[in-house]
Amino acid sequence: MRYAILSDIHGNLEAFEAVLKDLAGTDIQKLIFLGDIVGYGPNPEECITLLQEKFDVIIAGNHDWAVVGKTEINTFNSVARHAIEWTIAYLSPDGKKFLTELPLQKEEEGLTFVHASPLNPQDWVYIFSEHEALRNLRAVKNDLCFVGHSHIPSVFALNEFGELFFYKNFTEIILEGAIRFLINVGSVGQPRDGSSLASYGILDMKKRVFYLRRVRYAFETTQKKILSAGLPSILAERLARGW
Ligand code: ZN
Repeated sequence: MRYAILSDIHGNLEAFEAVLKDLAGTDIQKLIFLGDIVGYGPNPEECITLLQEKFDVIIAGNHDWAVVGKTEINTFNSVARHAIEWTIAYLSPDGKKFLTELPLQKEEEGLTFVHASPLNPQDWVYIFSEHEALRNLRAVKNDLCFVGHSHIPSVFALNEFGELFFYKNFTEIILEGAIRFLINVGSVGQPRDGSSLASYGILDMKKRVFYLRRVRYAFETTQKKILSAGLPSILAERLARGW
C-alpha cells in the first residue's frame, strides 16, 4: 500500500493543485490529509471542495476548528486571527459544516494520523523538543505516527533502547532500526523551513520507506490573490521565502 500524506494546505489552491499534479500517474492507493485546509490563504472554499472530492482520510487542524468556533480564536497571533476572521466571512455554510465534523485523530492499518500531537490532539501542541517527542512517542499506539502543524518536515525515531534520533533535511527515511517513528510531512500551502516549495510525503508500506517530496508552484499567483483579498501582506511575503 502506498499513501500520499499532505498537511497544512491553508487555502493555497496553487500549491494544492501542484501537489496533486505531482501525484498524478503515481501508484497511490490512499490520500491522507492531516488538517488545516483553511486559514492564511485566499481559496479556502475551493480547497475544501478539492479535498472532499479526492481524499480518503481527513483530519481537523487548529485553524479548521477556530473557523467554526471549536478552538478559541484568542490563542492565535493577530495575523492568524485576521485570516481566520476573513475565512469565517468567506466560507459557505456547507464548508463550515464540513469543518465542524472533522475528527481530531484517526488510526488506520497500524498508522496514526493527527494534526498536532497524538497525546493531546485538542491542545495543538508543537512537537519541537526531545521531551515532547518522547512523551508522544511513548503514548502513541502505532509504530508510525504522522503529524503536521509546525510546517517543518522532520522525523523523530525511538529505538528499543529508548534512544531518540532526529532527522531533518532528508529526502527519504527507511522505516527500520527503530520501534517508533513520528513523522512531520511539512506544509503544502505555507512551508516554514526556508524553502518556498510545497512539502508532502509518500509512504510505501511494502518497502517501509517514507519519501519527502518538494514541489515548485506559482506562489506569485497566490501572493496576488492574498493581497487583493485584503489579507495581511505578510502572508503573501512569507510564501516566497518559506518562513
Ligand atoms: Zn498550519
